[in-house]
Amino acid sequence: MKKLTRREFLKNAGAAALTGALGWELSACAPAPIPAAGTGAQLNTPTHAPATPSPVAAPLTSTGPSMHLRILFTNDLHGHLRPLYHREDHDAQYLDAHGIARGSVEAYLGSAVDFADLAKQYGKVGGVAQLATLIKQERASAPERTLLLDAGDAWYGSALALLTQGKAPVEVMNAIGYDAMTMHWEFNLGKEALLERIGEAKFPILAQNLVDTDFEDRVLEPSLVKEVQGLKLGIVGQAYPFSLLTTEARDANPGWRMGYREDELQKEINRLRKEEGAQLIILLSHMGLEQDKVMAGVLQGVDVMIGSHTHDILWKPEQIGQTIITQSGSHGKLLGELDLEIRDGKVVGFTHNLIPVLAERVAPDAEIDALIEKWYAPHRERLLRVVGETRSLLYRRSLFGGTSDAIVTQAYRDIAGADVGCAPGWRFGATLLPGTMTVEDVYNAFKPTATPLYTAKLSGRQIRASLEDNLDNIFNADPLQRLGGDVLRCAGVKADLRAQKARNERLDNIRINDAAWQESSKYLVGTSGGRTQYMDEAAKPSAEPAVELLVRYIEQHSPLSAEPLTTFTKLES
Ligand SMILES: [Zn+2]
Ligand SMILES: [Zn+2]
Repeated sequence: MKKLTRREFLKNAGAAALTGALGWELSACAPAPIPAAGTGAQLNTPTHAPATPSPVAAPLTSTGPSMHLRILFTNDLHGHLRPLYHREDHDAQYLDAHGIARGSVEAYLGSAVDFADLAKQYGKVGGVAQLATLIKQERASAPERTLLLDAGDAWYGSALALLTQGKAPVEVMNAIGYDAMTMHWEFNLGKEALLERIGEAKFPILAQNLVDTDFEDRVLEPSLVKEVQGLKLGIVGQAYPFSLLTTEARDANPGWRMGYREDELQKEINRLRKEEGAQLIILLSHMGLEQDKVMAGVLQGVDVMIGSHTHDILWKPEQIGQTIITQSGSHGKLLGELDLEIRDGKVVGFTHNLIPVLAERVAPDAEIDALIEKWYAPHRERLLRVVGETRSLLYRRSLFGGTSDAIVTQAYRDIAGADVGCAPGWRFGATLLPGTMTVEDVYNAFKPTATPLYTAKLSGRQIRASLEDNLDNIFNADPLQRLGGDVLRCAGVKADLRAQKARNERLDNIRINDAAWQESSKYLVGTSGGRTQYMDEAAKPSAEPAVELLVRYIEQHSPLSAEPLTTFTKLES
């Protein structure tokens, strides 16, 4: 395969997506139904959508006997071993577009519509002990032909994951019996701890695109070959290509390099098929949904992509050419289940289901529950200490900043005595209902990382550049150049935003501290996480992690209430 530069790769995007859309022809032969799945999940979660059988494009080349493979999958657990609340950003239009009824469990898990009411009705979501119950039920009908995969962002993003340096999630995933995973935020553990965790994992951590900078040798295994009832499977791991640029611990992984490395990826797929005799290829991908769709159009020979990173809930999988792409949301809210019917090494039919994990309606698996408790117990007293109260629903997930962001950025601004307080637009983070707040809530909802609060001195020009760069990652006219998460959150800045304009032309009428912005003036910025913390090499870090400063700030400012952050006035033209 021709080596693509990142630019060419992105340009290819539109064409690939188009090929996928137009090139899709339904097989004339109706697929055989997948043998009955375990029904336990349906008993526990009465309202979840039934699996829908879907035809695939693979032509039937013979009428020989078929076999069935079940792939159970998770992604973006972000270390949330215990149940939590989690509000998405989608509105009523999303519900209509997906045929989801208001008030349904899918509306609760997938949108912001009626969230506070539905949270009371359905309760917390996730919890890996609850997830384990469903996994065991769905595996029980055919354990010998069931795989369990995770597409990354599993070991980082919660208080418990941080305080155990990822040990708790690794041991829990060992006990559940995962077959393989790939990575992104795991790199934030730092090289030494990460390699220890990888050594402790009883399942392979796959990353074909992680190499050392000296010889470009792969650091980890790129793939795994597994034989399931005579069928040879190749599972390849593609870690988040920008991990070493965008996680907080940029400097914690010296000597490693990443990227898409798409020609090496293709070579690995070819090697698995030709040399190892793999008949079916599964790509465990932490690239994000749009990148998965492009890659599915570029790569040859990938049957299934188990995706992650963008936290998308694919109620129906995407299909690009012969590749089925799926992703199961985030925070352990849903267990993915893809049942493949395979004949002569080709997928000839499948059913796909996302099973809700409602913590109060699924009994926790006793073994996994005890394991989580073992890790939690030493930290219980510290984590359950009440530090204040919120009168607002606190959530992060939203394009321009939720209520949590309004509090965090204002706190950074106040603590640093700065003009501006900034925080990254991460997609992960628990939602808090009005009520008391504990230390654990502050970590899980606001800042489950160990970085300090930096007080940086930036010029007006630098502040504008960081905002414009970030906006371009999100609003670029080419959807595939939208590589960022949500918009950078900043308190103390106001600006007019024209999202449809070109890079560096989107912002106008910038005000800092209610005064007109000056290009050459210097401003103090309090920031923790993301790229703004690296913009001033002389930035002063706090002695304690920013999250501990937040704990104290909340103690002093409780009760909290907040409106969603409004940095930008959005203009049409
Ligand atoms: Zn994630
Ligand atoms: Zn990620």
